[in-house]
Amino acid sequence: MPFNQPAPALDNQYGSDRVLRSYLARALPADLLRAIEPELHAMGELVGGELYRLQLADRLNEPVHTPWDAWGNRIDHIEVSPLWKKAERLAAEKGLIATAYERRNARHSRVHQFALVHLFTPATDVYSCPLAMTDGAARALVASGNSALIERAVSHLTSRDQSLFWTSGQWMTESTGGSDVGLTETIARRDGAQWRLYGRKWFTSAATSQMALTLARPEGNPAGGKGLALFYVETRNASGQLDHILVHRLKDKFGTRKVPTAELTLDGTPAIAVAGEADGVRNISPMLTITRTWNSVSAVSYMRRGLALARDYAAKRVAFGAPLAGKPLHVDTLAGLQAEYEAGFHLAFFVVELLGRDESGALDAAGKDLLRLLTPVAKLMTGKQSVSVLSEVLESFGGAGYIEDTGLPSLLRDAQVFSIWEGTTNVLSLDVLRALQSGSALAALQVETETLASGVRDMLLLECMKQAQAGLLHAQHWIEKAAGDALEAGARRFSLTLGRSFSLLLLCRHAQWSLDHEHDRRALYAAQRFSRNTVDVIALEDNKASMTLANDVEP
Ligand SMILES: Cc1cc2nc3c(=O)[nH]c(=O)nc-3n(C[C@H](O)[C@H](O)[C@H](O)COP(=O)(O)OP(=O)(O)OC[C@H]3O[C@@H](n4cnc5c(N)ncnc54)[C@H](O)[C@@H]3O)c2cc1C
Repeated sequence: MPFNQPAPALDNQYGSDRVLRSYLARALPADLLRAIEPELHAMGELVGGELYRLQLADRLNEPVHTPWDAWGNRIDHIEVSPLWKKAERLAAEKGLIATAYERRNARHSRVHQFALVHLFTPATDVYSCPLAMTDGAARALVASGNSALIERAVSHLTSRDQSLFWTSGQWMTESTGGSDVGLTETIARRDGAQWRLYGRKWFTSAATSQMALTLARPEGNPAGGKGLALFYVETRNASGQLDHILVHRLKDKFGTRKVPTAELTLDGTPAIAVAGEADGVRNISPMLTITRTWNSVSAVSYMRRGLALARDYAAKRVAFGAPLAGKPLHVDTLAGLQAEYEAGFHLAFFVVELLGRDESGALDAAGKDLLRLLTPVAKLMTGKQSVSVLSEVLESFGGAGYIEDTGLPSLLRDAQVFSIWEGTTNVLSLDVLRALQSGSALAALQVETETLASGVRDMLLLECMKQAQAGLLHAQHWIEKAAGDALEAGARRFSLTLGRSFSLLLLCRHAQWSLDHEHDRRALYAAQRFSRNTVDVIALEDNKASMTLANDVEP
């Protein structure tokens, strides 16, 4: 037999995720963790075993759109992959949405839910996309106070019974713009007590969902975001056909290829106004808080999946006389990736904790400011991290990482979307500036920083912490001075510096806890390693020079 390189394997993905387990041991009361651990172990077993095998076997299956039946009827049937069908059933049964709404664990319910999401996401080919929007729709409907719609839809969105479970789409992007939704062209016309929508939605993922929340402009309303209203749409009529909705095609995408992302025309689609006839962008914002948090946790979970595979492979693959796991430079490369994962994890789950406290009424005004500020920060930072980490993960397999039927390349292609949808890095960086406009968010961050820092005693961690605090201080000084074009041009560097500095601080806090309670130095090593990666990226670029460079012409 010729020599074959060993394929990477996965074990129980809860059992071997030291970062998740150690975090939960610190963040949750011991009896609560004991109560939910069997569930997490079962999920870890499922995703590392049966679902991973199914994922590899299902690799070439993609959603198929059939516009017409044999007799000329318009049917717009979308057949999703077998794994997606299984994922829908599992999502309901395992309470991927329900856990957050049942609130059995009060303020810890979101941590419980997102621990499951962290395990489930990389095993189900971005089924997290419809789930994120489902969770977001439930949250937006609850926030709207529209009791009829809450009664009609939320029990479906949060059900554990697959026969009752609904997913929801979020139809915002039109060809005029996904970031600049104020340009939305879809019109809403009154039709008795309800509305009818006319327009084209350009990116609608989860095109098989039972409902969607969407934006449209009631006739006569002014241009811009304020003139839009938030609408509730049930996609099918009583006989199960799409209700005045035409599916033109599924997008031919770089990644997330299992996600059926469609271009739709709404041609008199019946709709109900969720919360009045204007302020749609404001009314959909609770949905975005949720989908962005799903995005952060999903990005982190992809890093974890890549590292789990890379680590296993490094232990098996022999080169130059020893396993890669013994080669100092390979080890050094993986250590840098692990540090990025740990930092991103702690930031994403810090936001999850704030969200859970907010929803259970346990968050004060400063906490709400922090949640508003850190939701986009975590999304933009982890989105970028996942792309660079997974690119390096692929390289860590050498040529095999570039070969489709190893299942590895799709990790990188899927991860690329985390920095695009739900707000690109730039758009979210500008959102971070908006979050600071109240004036109190930076003060809240400063108070939180001092609280976190006060518990750190280890000398090595104190060094790392100094760097985190210096990064935050630099960001604060910069924002106090920057104005006009310089402020906008620097928004991404500012936001990344906030994110990277604050996540280093969170890492230090956790590392101290881990030293004290687990006598484990690995989180400390992650903090040290992360602090050697660039934390403070603020620099003042000359805007005129950037204009010249970007456009490659002399002004
Ligand atoms: C796979 C996939 C699935 C999707 N699913 C959905 C869905 O289900 N529902 C939905 O509503 N949307 C969906 N989208 C759309 C997605 O949310 C948008 O593509 C995204 O928000 C960006 O909008 P855009 O494409 O209009 O890009 P643009 O807004 O045109 O952005 C182009 C570039 O300009 C930058 N930019 C824009 N404005 C500024 C500014 N003011 N300053 C600096 N830079 C700026 C952006 O960062 C970006 O790099 C999906 C997209 C993808 C790729």
